[in-house]
This record gives sequence, C-alpha cells and structure tokens, in this order.
Amino acid sequence: MISQNTIDTLRHTAIGARGLFIDGAQSTGTSGATLPVVSPIDGRVFASIADGNAADVDRAVTSARNAFERGSWSRAAPAFRKKVLGRLAELVEKHADELAVLGVRDNGTEIGMAYKAEPLSAAGAIRYYAEAIDKVYGEIAPTAENVLGLIHKEPLGVVGVIVPWNFPLMIGAWKIAPALAAGNCVLVKPPEIASLTLLRLAELATEAGMPAGVLNVVTGRGAVTGEALGLHVDVDAIAFTGSGPVGRRLLDYSARSNLKRVFLELGGKSPNIVFADASDLKQAAVVSANGIFRNSGQVCVAGSRLLVQASVYDRFMDELVSATMRLKVGDPLDLLSDIGAVSSAEQLDKNLGFVARAQIEGARLVTGGERILAETGGSYMAPTIFENVTQNMQLAREEVFGPVLGVMRFDTEEEAVRLANSTVYGLASAVWTANLSTAHRMVRAIHAGVVHVNTYGGADITVPLGGVKQSGFGRDKSLHALEKYLELKTAWIAL
Ligand code: NAD
Repeated sequence: MISQNTIDTLRHTAIGARGLFIDGAQSTGTSGATLPVVSPIDGRVFASIADGNAADVDRAVTSARNAFERGSWSRAAPAFRKKVLGRLAELVEKHADELAVLGVRDNGTEIGMAYKAEPLSAAGAIRYYAEAIDKVYGEIAPTAENVLGLIHKEPLGVVGVIVPWNFPLMIGAWKIAPALAAGNCVLVKPPEIASLTLLRLAELATEAGMPAGVLNVVTGRGAVTGEALGLHVDVDAIAFTGSGPVGRRLLDYSARSNLKRVFLELGGKSPNIVFADASDLKQAAVVSANGIFRNSGQVCVAGSRLLVQASVYDRFMDELVSATMRLKVGDPLDLLSDIGAVSSAEQLDKNLGFVARAQIEGARLVTGGERILAETGGSYMAPTIFENVTQNMQLAREEVFGPVLGVMRFDTEEEAVRLANSTVYGLASAVWTANLSTAHRMVRAIHAGVVHVNTYGGADITVPLGGVKQSGFGRDKSLHALEKYLELKTAWIAL
C-alpha cells in the first residue's frame, strides 16, 4: 500500500503540457490547441493535454494500421506479446505510486481505492491476458475424412478504445490488454477530464518493448476525437465504456461508416436487495453504504437503488445511516478519507440537480443532499440518501453517477423481483439473504450481468463484467473478453 509520505511527495509533481502519443512517441496535436486539466481536489489547473482533432485521429489510425500490417506485433508469436505485456504489467506495478496519485489529481477518487483499482488492477488485467494468449488454440472441425476444416483465430486489426473518467486506467486495461494480447493495434481515446494515466501507460508500453504504433493515445473532446474515431473507416472495432447516449452515437457512427463492430459497457441503476433473513444486517448496511458511496458513487455497478424488506426496514435504515455518517469525505490524497471528490464541478452540479428533482417529486431526504467543503475550491458532495422513492421518480429510473441513493421498501420476493427489474438497465445487482433457495431464485430472476450475493462489488478479473438491456452488450474481463478481439477464419481444405 502507498504511504502518506509518498503521496505528499508526489501530489505536487509538475506535469506540464502533455501531448498525444502516436507511433511510439509524444507529439503535439495538429492544431496546437490544448485543454486545461482541472483537479477536482481544489478546482485548480495543474496540467494541460492536447486538444486532438480528426486529423490527429487519422494520423494515429494510420500508425496503428501500418503497425498491424508490418506484423511485428500482430503476427508475432504469442509468446513475444506475452513477454512484452508481462514487462508492461511489471512497469505499471513499479510506477503504481506515481500512477495512482496522478490519477487521483485528475479525477478525485480516494487514494485507497484508486491505488488498488487503478494501477494494481490494470497491472493484474495486463498480466492476466499476457498469460492467457499463448493458451488460445485454433480448432479442427469434426468433418468427413476427405476434407480438413480448420478454424483460425485472428486479430481484428485496429481497435479503438474509448473510456470514461471514473477508472480510466483499469477500464482501459480491461480493453487494451485483451485487444493487444490478441494481436490487434490500438488507439485509445481517454476521457477529456482524466487522460493523464493512459498517456503514461503508453509511454510505459514503449519502455516495455512494444513496437511503435501498436498502442496510440489521442486525447481531446469526445464530440471531436471520439466521433472521428467512431466514424473512421479504417477502424475495425470500438470497445466503449461510458454513457448510454454516447453508446447510441457509436452505433450510429458504425452504421454510417464501415459497420465496425461496437462493444458497449454502459450505465446502470443497480438494485441492492435486502431480505429480512439476511444473516448480518449491520454488515449488509456497511457494505451497501460502501457499494453506493465509494468514489462518490461514480462506479458503474454502484448499488444505487436499495430495496429493503418492510419487516426490517427501520432497523436496516438505522444501520445504513450510521454507516453512511461514518464515511469521511475529504481530500482524496489523504489516506484517512473514505470518499474523495466528485470528478468535476459539472458532475457535482448534475448530482445536485438530481437531489432537487427528487425533493420536488416527493422523496424524503434522509441525509446529505448538498455540496460540502466548498472552501477547498474542489467538488465534494455529502453522501445522500432518499427514502419513499417510487418507481416513477427520476431517482428510480435514471443513473445519477453520483453519491445519491434511493431507497424503496418491499414485502414479498415477487415484489422485490418486479421492482429490481423495473428499469431499462441491467448491469449489476445484489441480494442479501441467508436462505440459499432465495439466493438462487433471485440470481435467476434478476435481469442483470452481475448478481452479488451477500456482498457488493469486488469481482475480480476472472469473471466477466457487462450488462443486459440498455446497460450494453459485450463483456470486459475474464477469458470471454478475449473472444471479442479475435476473428474466426475457416480454412476448408479438400484432401
Ligand atoms: P461519457 O459517455 O460522457 O464519456 C465516455 C467517453 O466517451 C469519454 O472518453 C468521452 O470523451 C467519449 N465521448 C463523449 N462524446 C463522444 C462522442 N460523441 N463520440 C465518441 N466518444 C464520445 O461517460 P462518462 O461521463 O465519461 O462516464 C460515465 C458513464 O460511464 C456512466 O453512464 C457510467 O455508468 C458509465 N460506466 C460504465 C461502466 C461499465 O462497465 N458498464 C463502467 C464505468 C462507467
């Protein structure tokens, strides 16, 4: 774990102006324009990034395509890619302190969580796919004797990766690592408000021995660089994590350009369901509070709808409120803070808009609901709980992506299932019960990519993550994610 001394040394490191990363080197954007990097910790500008444009995206795609065609990566023995990616994982671990603090300055996640979730998880994902790739075999089809049917697995070509600001390095690694391991060349479009760690990752990849052009990073605004990437006719696939509206645009870009395949990991409104027979209500309350409030609720799988069985409602709410009050919101670079800053002033305003609307619609504010620590200049929000939330309210239907929890009560299992599934989303969920049968029935009944039982969060790289319904399609993590980045080719050979 990182120490407070190390954090305090790194927190003021000068970053300066960061360029794009194309063809194995830093380069300024074609237009020379830059975007300021504002830290949500104190509202101050501490660096700048290149404000890339369509010409920059085109340069990076050309670099990736040339690298792919050269074949020094795409056609190299998997053992070579394994070696380079293994070295990259080591470098990410070696620079974990630097990457963690850099990322926190950029997006405000509390350092305790950021350290594990960003550099360490990213390194773990890179190593996982590095280790996997030389265990992927082609197939021989069970044909008649006079033919040989071979099924080859080949990389797709150039893969675009577009990620959000909440955990850019980890979510980026979930896509970049399997895509690269499979032999693709990659162009990353980081989120405009948190680009610095992915730029650093590309530098480390070069240090690890990755050939030029295999991993490129083009920073800039989503509506400009993201759109250019989505519309580019020489990009074979886009792996995206972010909001629903941008996911829809990517499908449209694909339809209007070259029918590139698009994988979408979108938002959620995940139900966290507490049955009266949960074996430890106190523990369930503590984990549930963490499951919505850590990283200021900016977690795609956050349990943002809490459903509590009526007979334990009051007892559970008491535990939940006291667990919430114990969470310390503060400087994300202080190891004692449980919750850091909201990623930007805009996101904070958006969160407060949800609070105002919930009050107008008749939900009861139990705690929080306001900006705090304004004197720091940063963006901080008190963990917020609303009860008496009903299905027609905005808070029950739309993703806040902030520290705002809506609570509902239910009587029967059927009602819990109906409420849980009354959403256009289907990303994560949880069930708290000591009854094995209830747990298994709920796992079957809930429409979601993930159902936690007697816990919330923490699923590691070995299991897939992704949604159903409007939470998207395609899966990150696990060996299943590798399949997205490999194309099947049939050789039908007459003997
Ligand atoms: P966002 O959709 O606004 O942005 C995501 C990325 O898309 C950014 O890099 C952005 O620059 C880019 N982008 C924006 N406009 C674009 C355009 N027109 N064309 C192409 N790219 C464009 O999302 P966000 O605000 O950064 O992140 C929050 C969202 O991400 C939430 O909805 C959250 O649930 C979701 N999320 C999902 C998961 C998951 O695994 N399912 C994980 C984390 C976050």
